[in-house]
Amino acid sequence: MTTSDLYRPPRPTISYELYPPRTPKGETQVWDTVTQLADHVADYFSVTYGASGSTASTSQALVERIINETSVPVIAHLTCVGRTAEQLREVVGAFLDAGVRNFLALRGDPPEGVVDWKPAPGEVGRACDLVTLIREVEAERFGSRGLDPISRLADHRSRRTAVSIAVAAYPGLERAGAAPDGGHPAGGVTDGAVAGASRFRVREDELVALRAKQDAGADFAITQLFFDAAAYRELLGASRAAGIRLPLVPGILPLTDPARIRRLCDLNGIAHPAEILGTLDATTDPEERRRIGLEATTSLVRDVLAAGAPGLHLYTFNKADGVTALLEDVLAERMPA
Ligand SMILES: Cc1cc2nc3c(=O)[nH]c(=O)nc-3n(C[C@H](O)[C@H](O)[C@H](O)COP(=O)(O)OP(=O)(O)OC[C@H]3O[C@@H](n4cnc5c(N)ncnc54)[C@H](O)[C@@H]3O)c2cc1C
Repeated sequence: MTTSDLYRPPRPTISYELYPPRTPKGETQVWDTVTQLADHVADYFSVTYGASGSTASTSQALVERIINETSVPVIAHLTCVGRTAEQLREVVGAFLDAGVRNFLALRGDPPEGVVDWKPAPGEVGRACDLVTLIREVEAERFGSRGLDPISRLADHRSRRTAVSIAVAAYPGLERAGAAPDGGHPAGGVTDGAVAGASRFRVREDELVALRAKQDAGADFAITQLFFDAAAYRELLGASRAAGIRLPLVPGILPLTDPARIRRLCDLNGIAHPAEILGTLDATTDPEERRRIGLEATTSLVRDVLAAGAPGLHLYTFNKADGVTALLEDVLAERMPA
């Protein structure tokens, strides 16, 4: 079984993003988190991959430890910026040798200061091309896939895959005049956006990119963080209208730490969510702040589940308590005993 088998309604799939530790203390912390969550509710973990492969060995080590010491599946994030196609084939091969069968295929962020990054000719520069590369390595290793697009698609639909591939998706941006609240960090809203009643809209090029990832053989998508369920609903509606059938799993950040929210928004080019930040900033009592943040996240989670989200991918920042509190608050009634 791969992670793509997990998105079956009505039970929401619960998964967690981890990052590779940088210090021995961080290693202890991430492993405490893994064991706590594995004992709680965990359908899979995912482990991030530093820009240009900067955490390659620590990411792979954490992925391998999860495989070897827990029974919870794990997704290895993989980025293509900064690697040649040949190097990427080797990285994918090394993950497969280690027993990894689940990937999150990403472009990765361009090197700092490079505005219009493009890959060298013949190299891999888009997530959809990385999906294709992984499917090619899978075919070489496991032999079950035809390499022409039609048989690859047929194979994919019949689920005869040894490897599951997730990709990134980007919730809608606020319409003209409003600050963006989600969406791809690389640019603003274009006029060619999808029509709809929502105050959010999804960029046309993001839909084209997501469709290309699906056609290359992706199994599901995980979204960038967002703060309003309407942004997720817009992505869902626009994707379905564009023929994208992939399960779209909302990436959820527990909204308890205003400094972290600000930092992540800045990192990802997302506008600060004024309302929740204003409420969090208004209290100096950490317990009260946590209560308010969890309440806001609970409300967001309820709304995305009501919108049809097949699961929740929780950004843990290597700490279990925020996400377990959230699950207790929100999901107890939805989880089978
Ligand atoms: C859930 C999640 C996890 C992440 N994990 C990591 C991580 O571990 N490490 C890390 O470094 N980064 C990570 N990122 C960030 C990600 O690498 C960046 O957002 C990156 O800038 C874009 O990656 P992508 O896979 O969406 O790129 P792509 O899908 O390749 O898109 C990049 C750009 O090219 C355009 N494009 C792509 N394909 C096409 C096409 N066929 N036609 C037209 N236009 C196209 C898109 O519109 C977009 O503007 C993550 C993001 C998310 C949402």
